[in-house]
Amino acid sequence: MLTHLECTRCGEHYPADRPQTVCTKDGGVLYARYDLAAIKRTFSAARLAGRAPTMWRYDAVLPDADPVSLGEGFTPMLPSREYPNVFIKDEGLNPTGSFKARGLSAAVTMARHFGLKKLAIPSAGNAAGALAAYAAAAGVEAHIFMPKDVPAANRIECDHYGAHVTLVDGLISDCARKVAELKESEAWKKDGWFDVSTTKEPYRVEGKKTMGYEVAEQLGWKLPQGIIYPTGGGVGLLGMWKAFEEMEALGWLSSEKLGSERPGSNRPKMVCVQAAGCAPIVKAWEEGKSSAEMWTNAATLAAGLRVPKPYGDYLILDILKKSKGTAVSATDDEILEATRHWAKVEGIFAAPEGAACLVAYRKLRAGGFFQPEDTVVLFNTGSGLKYLDVLDVTENGAPDAPVRGVASTKPAARQIGGIIGPY
Ligand SMILES: [Zn+2]
Repeated sequence: MLTHLECTRCGEHYPADRPQTVCTKDGGVLYARYDLAAIKRTFSAARLAGRAPTMWRYDAVLPDADPVSLGEGFTPMLPSREYPNVFIKDEGLNPTGSFKARGLSAAVTMARHFGLKKLAIPSAGNAAGALAAYAAAAGVEAHIFMPKDVPAANRIECDHYGAHVTLVDGLISDCARKVAELKESEAWKKDGWFDVSTTKEPYRVEGKKTMGYEVAEQLGWKLPQGIIYPTGGGVGLLGMWKAFEEMEALGWLSSEKLGSERPGSNRPKMVCVQAAGCAPIVKAWEEGKSSAEMWTNAATLAAGLRVPKPYGDYLILDILKKSKGTAVSATDDEILEATRHWAKVEGIFAAPEGAACLVAYRKLRAGGFFQPEDTVVLFNTGSGLKYLDVLDVTENGAPDAPVRGVASTKPAARQIGGIIGPY
């Protein structure tokens, strides 16, 4: 039912029967488009019952290709023990311990479908691990370019998955440059190389959009009042908004509303949370701009939020506006405290990016943006186990503890320039 790809800037159509990257005219992000009217005639949400609990249960609205699956998706929607009407969508239970599994399952599925052989990614984070795992499962090569001081978990898992890991003496921007140089080489086309960087490959959004379908299905086909999402590249935010649009066209959403009455649209207020040390979307939102400026000297321990200018910035800001959402920042200290708090109170050892949602929720409740009766979904995007090197700090930071002072000693907090993950 996939009919074509469409540029999100100029609307240009591209054929979906071959690998595509971004719009050749304006560099816009390409979205997969389906014959939703035909899907509506042949498939209903009721037919999902009894299907395997993975993101591929939604294959009616995904490209028709043999999935490369490790059981990703359909993660738990946990009711908060602390706040009634708050749910925590725990993406840390995905294969490779993060939400990146969804996007890379879809991207590697399509890469194999198109006969691509060598998949390249510049990444210092969870996307690298996810690519390595899915490439292993698909029998294609993963070529990962990471800074040599990358977090241990990501380097070791890539190595074990058999990926070709190139440790670059430099920053993630230097890794991206390596991939760019490779693209200029003759071997790139001849040997079936492909760059699976965030939003420069159309199917990672398709994988991530299944989070939107799951939120609806797990809440009885009703949408919450709000979704708080840690925003680095913002692919999940784009994907979920796309899912809501598709579900409306498919007639899958209940007309009943959850919680408090909302005038107009049933769609949730979309809230983007970023780290105070790298908050280009928050800044652009506060200034009323439609695109973000490059954030200089990006620094935060939440590696997935170290994105100085997301490629899909114009789409993220448009979604915040259309959904009457907002953008909030959280400092590293607030994030660390929230990570520990969630672990103790909820039993969830979250990635720092995920715990940032708790910081944002507290601020939005205190400011009256959300009411206690509003149903709000907070996304924990990964497992804290992938971040042991930055989370290994004592509760009150004993002054002589050797690991104290994340900001000064940990490679994750170093100053970085250029375009950065969460590739
Ligand atoms: Zn375009």
